[in-house]
Amino acid sequence: MWRRATKSSLFLRLLKPSKHNASLSQSSTNGFPFHIHTHTHFQEKHGIFSKEVAPFITFVLGGPGSGKGTQCAKIVETFGFNHLSAGDLLRREMDSDSEYGSMILNTIREGNIVPSEVTVKLILREMESSDNHKFLIDGFPRSEENRIAFEKISGVEPHMVLFFDCPEEEMVKRLLSRNQGRIDDNIDTIKNRLKVFEALNLPVVEYYAKRGKLYRINAVGTADEIFEQVRPAFEACEVAK
Ligand code: UDP
Ligand code: MG
Repeated sequence: MWRRATKSSLFLRLLKPSKHNASLSQSSTNGFPFHIHTHTHFQEKHGIFSKEVAPFITFVLGGPGSGKGTQCAKIVETFGFNHLSAGDLLRREMDSDSEYGSMILNTIREGNIVPSEVTVKLILREMESSDNHKFLIDGFPRSEENRIAFEKISGVEPHMVLFFDCPEEEMVKRLLSRNQGRIDDNIDTIKNRLKVFEALNLPVVEYYAKRGKLYRINAVGTADEIFEQVRPAFEACEVAK
């Protein structure tokens, strides 16, 4: 069973390097606030790695408006995953009293990418507090830098990656008609989100395609039709069922 980690969480240890955590120091040589080494001995014994069952991770990628959230809801219903939307975690952090609030707001408003260490911390915090070991991580990693930061900090890789492939004009049409009151669903921000997606997120998609982990899904059609392409990816995987 996927138990909650006790005492100090991985999240807190990332913020406060301690004598038990020699792998993190505050000097920065790589653009992160901490100098991070991959240190599997430490990770195996602490944080999310102290759980009895290893996490099963699926990344869900696709451009803005490609239907990631809609399909994640169906995957949760059918296969019992815990759905972590990186965008939702950032919006929740922004609405709380967080020190990162205004930085996240400005970044989302412009359609750019929030610094990796902030997003990775939010994702790992959710993973640690979950009783479910099967995770759908939606809308992340958005760049090679995001991907590398997640792998370095967590020491784990996704088992599979779904990519919702959708033409730009269809994505724009969906975003402009969805009326969810989001500050970034306006034409100027949408244009930048699409640019950022192509320049920074597609290389991540290509990376996982090369590693044989990518399921490319044609994201045009009804939600039910698209789910019929998603279903076999999970059915083919014993642990995911
Ligand atoms: N975002 C981010 N890092 C992430 C996920 C989201 O910086 O890992 C920000 C980014 O500004 C993005 C916005 O949150 O444009 C909305 O992301 P979400 O996944 O909710 O929406 P999408 O654009 O994929 O429909
Ligand atoms: Mg979403």
